[in-house]
Amino acid sequence: MKEYAHGSSHQMTAFRILLATITAVALGRRVDAQTTLIRNASVIDGTGRAAQRGSVRVDGDRIVAVGALTPITGERVIDAEGLALAPGLIDTHSHHDRGLSDRRDALAMVSQGVTTIVVGQDGGGINLAATFARLDTQPVAVNVASYAGHGSIRSRVMGDDFKRPATPAEVDRMKALLKVEMDAGALGLSTGLEYDPGIYSSPDEVRALAKIAGDAGGRYISHIRSEDRDFWKAIDELITIGRENHMPVQVSHIKLGMRDLWGKADSLVKVLDRARAAGVNVTADIYPYPFWQSNLGVLYPKRNFADSAETDFVLGHVAGPDDIIFNSFPGHPEYAGKTLAQVAALRGTSNSKTLMALLAEPRGSSAGIVARGMADADVERLIQWPFANVCSDGQSTGLHPRGFGSFSRVLGPYVRDKKLFPLEEAVRKMTSLAAANVGLSNRGRIAPGAFADLVLFDPAVVADRADFGKAQAQAIGVRTVWVNGRVVFQDGKTTATFPGRTLKR
Ligand SMILES: [Zn+2]
Repeated sequence: MKEYAHGSSHQMTAFRILLATITAVALGRRVDAQTTLIRNASVIDGTGRAAQRGSVRVDGDRIVAVGALTPITGERVIDAEGLALAPGLIDTHSHHDRGLSDRRDALAMVSQGVTTIVVGQDGGGINLAATFARLDTQPVAVNVASYAGHGSIRSRVMGDDFKRPATPAEVDRMKALLKVEMDAGALGLSTGLEYDPGIYSSPDEVRALAKIAGDAGGRYISHIRSEDRDFWKAIDELITIGRENHMPVQVSHIKLGMRDLWGKADSLVKVLDRARAAGVNVTADIYPYPFWQSNLGVLYPKRNFADSAETDFVLGHVAGPDDIIFNSFPGHPEYAGKTLAQVAALRGTSNSKTLMALLAEPRGSSAGIVARGMADADVERLIQWPFANVCSDGQSTGLHPRGFGSFSRVLGPYVRDKKLFPLEEAVRKMTSLAAANVGLSNRGRIAPGAFADLVLFDPAVVADRADFGKAQAQAIGVRTVWVNGRVVFQDGKTTATFPGRTLKR
């Protein structure tokens, strides 16, 4: 980055400052802070419009001008050297809040150009007022928005007695708790209906709660009830909520997570497009990997872990023994990184017997796994859907490379090598579309008045480096990242600057 100040003689400078001040005052702009001009950039504004060579002026936390701009006196000038300047990327489904208070520089995110994360996903997320207050007191490098989680609220009301539908009185108590979270600034309601305790809820319970979020101007975002066996029904449950509650609904990390569903991406897009044509604002987010990450228990929607027929079904249709990799296993650290087939070989038992034995161990069902559950062709088809934005579903630790790689993998290999869409469309899917899909305003665009979340990157170089076995390898190709007008990442390193804000609905 080249940085220099314009100005000639002392007198000229004084005159120019006076002139600039008069002009700024006439335009109603603040004049106390030094402005920054990023010039000679290939500006990708986030709307999908073709890149334009030009400059962007930042004043404080806002973008104030875009186009053919000349430096004003005293202005800090940054030469972008023709690199791409895009709005800061928005991760609409993130688990990066885990450990964020210890790693406030948010390396996994800012190294990819991500400037806003949306947490409270999969039904998790409660006490948002306290979470936001903590982040306001001890801010991090990125902006943080959150959903309120159905699962957390359900746990609060039902405790350990959650393996049943809630009573009307319990649903009323959940509604009251959700109302508190919405008042605290939640973007809406998130559900994780494949997980405990959400899986035991009735569709009526979920719809009634979603309506509370919708009536408050919020949205519904869901890890749907099934990503495999009952997939179509689960999609229908989400669309029904959007239609009946007249509220925007978003499918979290959309996927066809079962062999029997592979190749059905076109059918899925048709279902979603039909719903949109009928007036339902349904959208999705997606990460660019054929692997998901979850726990072992999620493979059994009926939680019938000792059922051998079910186990054979899991291994034959949902994820094979070579495709289930242990991220961790309680009491067996030596299983980390091994496949189920490898663990079975170690134990000298069949794949199916091994799986059932592991599930019978203490906390076996909560063992972390990564599984190859999707077909690449489906991921590539779904990510091209114009209403699908990019997310990571990631975090800064663990086996899955998505936490450090999702966005760079799309900006680089998916654009350059796979040619799934133009760079401008990839950026739109990470910025203005992402903002729209979760209801964030004034972010995700390069335009006067928008917040100065920006990323300067090299489209010819940008790529993910994270992979299995090196999931925390830092992405390459991003030069500078600004959050609310301040540099948080420069030439491969974070800057120990924490300008991130809490973004409330
Ligand atoms: Zn999820």
